[in-house]
Amino acid sequence: KKTTPIITDPQSFIQLTDECVALFNELKPIAGEYARRMKVLKRLNKLIYNYFSDGKPQLHLFGSSANNFGMKNADMDISLVIDEKHVGSPKRIVLRLGDILKRKRMLEVVCLPRARVPIVKFKDEFSELSCDICINNTLAIHNTQLISTYSKIDIRARQLGYVIKHWAKCRQINEPYQGTLSSYAWIVMALHYLQTRNPPILPVLQNMTAPGEERKKVEVEGHDVYFYSNWDSLREFGTPNTSSLGELVTGFFRLYAEEFDWNDSVVSLRTGGYLTKEEKQWAKQTNDRDNILLTIEDPFEVTHNLGRLVDRSNLKVIKYEFKRAYKLAASGKPLSKICEEYVAD
Ligand code: ATP
Ligand code: MG
Repeated sequence: KKTTPIITDPQSFIQLTDECVALFNELKPIAGEYARRMKVLKRLNKLIYNYFSDGKPQLHLFGSSANNFGMKNADMDISLVIDEKHVGSPKRIVLRLGDILKRKRMLEVVCLPRARVPIVKFKDEFSELSCDICINNTLAIHNTQLISTYSKIDIRARQLGYVIKHWAKCRQINEPYQGTLSSYAWIVMALHYLQTRNPPILPVLQNMTAPGEERKKVEVEGHDVYFYSNWDSLREFGTPNTSSLGELVTGFFRLYAEEFDWNDSVVSLRTGGYLTKEEKQWAKQTNDRDNILLTIEDPFEVTHNLGRLVDRSNLKVIKYEFKRAYKLAASGKPLSKICEEYVAD
C-alpha cells in the first residue's frame, strides 16, 4: 500500500496553521451574534405564546446558532418544546404556527407538515434571518449543548471544526440532501479526532464526573443524555498536547485518507474511541434507506448512524476528498487550494 510520506517537522505546519487561524477568524460570527439571535427568539416566543398557552410553548435554539460552530448568516434552527397532549400532533402544530407567522407578517412562510421532521420555514421580518421551527426536537437541544461544551474546552476544537466544515462545504460533501454528511456529522468527526490524539486534546464528556461523584443517568426520550458540562474546569485539559492547528488539520485528513478502517470501524464520540460494526449490529444492512458504509454513532441516540445517507457512490467521493486534501496538505499546498470550490467537469 502506497502512503504519502508523513511530515513530522512542526515548521512545515506554520503556514497552514496561520491560514487556518485566519480562516477561523473570518468565519466565526462577531461578538454579540448569539445575543442577537436570542433576541429574535425571545420576540418569537412572545408572539406565539398566547396561541399555544395550553401546551406551555417554549422555543429553543439548536444547531449552529447555539453550538459555537455557526457561520455569520447561518439559518436559525429552532425547536418548539410543547405539550402535544394539549395542542395536537407536530403536523397540526406546524400548520397552526404557519398561520400565526403569516398573520404576524413574517416573510416567506412555508409549512412542510408531511416532511420526515415536520417544520415551518420563514424569514424573520426584522433581522431577516432565515428560521426553521421543528416540534419537540429535544435530543437536538441536548446534542447542541454537548457540542457547545466541547467547543469551549480547547480553542483548537472550535478552529478545527470551522476549518473542516468550510472544507466540506467548498468540496460539496456537506450536503445531507445529496447523500453526503451534515455539518453535525462533520463536527462530531472533528471532535472525535481530538479525543483520540495522544495525549488527547478533548476528554470524553459522557464518561466524566466531578471528583468523587458517581455518574448519573439523565434520561430523555429513552436516551441517556448525561454529560459533564463544567468546561471551565477543563480549560487545561488539552495543553499537554502541543500540536498546531495545521498539524491537526493534516492529521485529520491523514486519518481518513490512510488509517481509518472503513470496513469495521464506527466513530464514537460517546466513548472517545472506535467501536466495531459487529458490536453495533451495523455489519449487515437491514433496509434500503440506511447505509452502513460510513458509520458515525450519534452521541445520544446510539442506534442512529449519522452516515446512514452515504451510499457507495458518495462514499467514493468522500474517500477521494480525504485523499486529495491529505495529499495537498502534506505537500505544503495553501489552504485556499485544499478548500478550492469543487466544480463538476
Ligand atoms: P450549519 O451551519 O451547516 O447549519 P448546524 O450546526 O446547524 O450547521 P446541521 O447539520 O444543520 O448543523 O444540524 C443542526 C442540528 O440538527 C444538529 O445539532 C443536530 O441536532 C441535528 N442533526 C443534523 N444532522 C443530523 C443527523 N444526521 N442525525 C440526527 N440529527 C442531526
Ligand atoms: Mg443549521
